[in-house]
Amino acid sequence: MTRPAAMLGALLAALTAGACAELGVVGDGTTVSWGPPNEGVLIDGTRLPREGEGFVVHPRWAARGTQFGTDELVDVIAHVGRVVAETHPGSRLAVGDLSIAGGGRSPHHRSHQTGRDVDFVLFARDASGKPVDSTEMRHFGASGKTVDAGEPLWFDAERQWTMVRALVEAPGPGVANIFLYAPLRDLVLDEARASGAPDAVIDLAGSLLAQPGDSAPHDDHMHVRLFCAADDTGCSDYTARMPPKKPRKTAVEEAMAAEIARRPRIGSMLHFGTRW
Ligand SMILES: [Zn+2]
Repeated sequence: MTRPAAMLGALLAALTAGACAELGVVGDGTTVSWGPPNEGVLIDGTRLPREGEGFVVHPRWAARGTQFGTDELVDVIAHVGRVVAETHPGSRLAVGDLSIAGGGRSPHHRSHQTGRDVDFVLFARDASGKPVDSTEMRHFGASGKTVDAGEPLWFDAERQWTMVRALVEAPGPGVANIFLYAPLRDLVLDEARASGAPDAVIDLAGSLLAQPGDSAPHDDHMHVRLFCAADDTGCSDYTARMPPKKPRKTAVEEAMAAEIARRPRIGSMLHFGTRW
């Protein structure tokens, strides 16, 4: 099996060999997601506009320059935005980080490196039940009410289900993971059943929605990752295992490592106690 570092070396060699080498060797005239989501790059990434039909990038995230994704990811976001706007007129999907230009590591995430990861602000309602156009990521408790400082808000499972259904039904390579705090996941699936959606759609959503075992609980945002596009042959659906920073020394550390290894893994993701 080719090591990610070797793949990156081959990529860099191809890119530095000359402009002609890019097309036909690595690039194919469209965006290219290369390597694992936590150790890769994004070639010729597409920039998501600041706003479009049913979606918006609020200033906190626009200022980071993290709006670059694969064609497929940008198409999926546009699709979900359109469905949100059609189903809940006046509502907008608030988009957080995708990848930085060119992909690779960024200050805010260990993954989000290959243009296939995106975060979304959660939908919320105010005390009167009115839908809120959330500009910040708020932390929600198990009951669905915010637990941080500021105006109390309630998780809006109805609009959230609309966007989850649109995600799993979107054309393209398909959704690999949807990370969300477990109690909020349950509220979304309750809403899905109440909405009368087909069982197959609910089952698919339920299989993709998960709270990561040992990274941030995702109680303030939803993280979505797409599978690799079929024509991105250097793209990996598996995350790269990072070497430990120092050898483990104590029995306690060994016991902790064994415990983490025993935990069930979610989909293709491996977790390293980081924020995805
Ligand atoms: Zn994320």
